Amino acid sequence: MIKLTSHDPQETDQIGYKLGTMLQEGDVVCLTGDLGAGKTTLTQAIARGLGVKEDVTSPTFALIHEYRGRVPVYHFDVYRIGNIEELEDLGYEEYFYGQGVCIIEWASQIREVIPKEHLWIYIQRTEEDHREIRLEGTTARFHGIVEELNHLC
Ligand code: ADP
Ligand code: MG
Repeated sequence: MIKLTSHDPQETDQIGYKLGTMLQEGDVVCLTGDLGAGKTTLTQAIARGLGVKEDVTSPTFALIHEYRGRVPVYHFDVYRIGNIEELEDLGYEEYFYGQGVCIIEWASQIREVIPKEHLWIYIQRTEEDHREIRLEGTTARFHGIVEELNHLC
C-alpha cells in the first residue's frame, strides 16, 4: 500500500489523471472515504485520463453513469444502494467483468461482489484542503501502477 498526500483539489486531479492514463479495459477501481473526501473529484480526473471528454457527474440516483473514453468508463456510486439485488437488476457482472473500466464510489457497501482483481483507494480528509490518498492493488499490474504513481506524485 502506498500513501500520497494531496494538498488541494488540483493535486488530487493530477493523481487521478495520471492513474487514468495507466488504466486499461477490465480494470476495477474502488473508492472509499467519507462524504466530501474527494471520490467524485478523483473519479472525474481518472475519467479524463481515460479520454472522457464529457462532464462526469455523480450518479447518486442512477447508480451508474456510462462514458465513452478510449475504453468505456462505468462510474458507479452505490452510496444509496439498499441491497445487492439492485446491482443484479443492472446486470453488474457485465460491467465488472466487461470491456470497460469501472470506478465505484462507496465500494465498501458492495464488498461481496467486488472482483478479486481491483485497485482500492481510500481517501481521507486530514485538513481543510489536505487529503491522504491510500492505494492498494491486488494484482502485480496494479502494484506496478501504484509504484509508478508514487514516483510521479
Ligand atoms: P465525495 O465524492 O468523496 O463525496 P467530492 O469529490 O464530491 O467528494 O467533494 C470533495 C470536495 O472537497 C470538493 O468540493 C473539493 O473541491 C474539495 N477538496 C478540497 N481539497 C481537496 C483535495 N485535496 N482533494 C480533493 N478534493 C478536495
Ligand atoms: Mg461522490
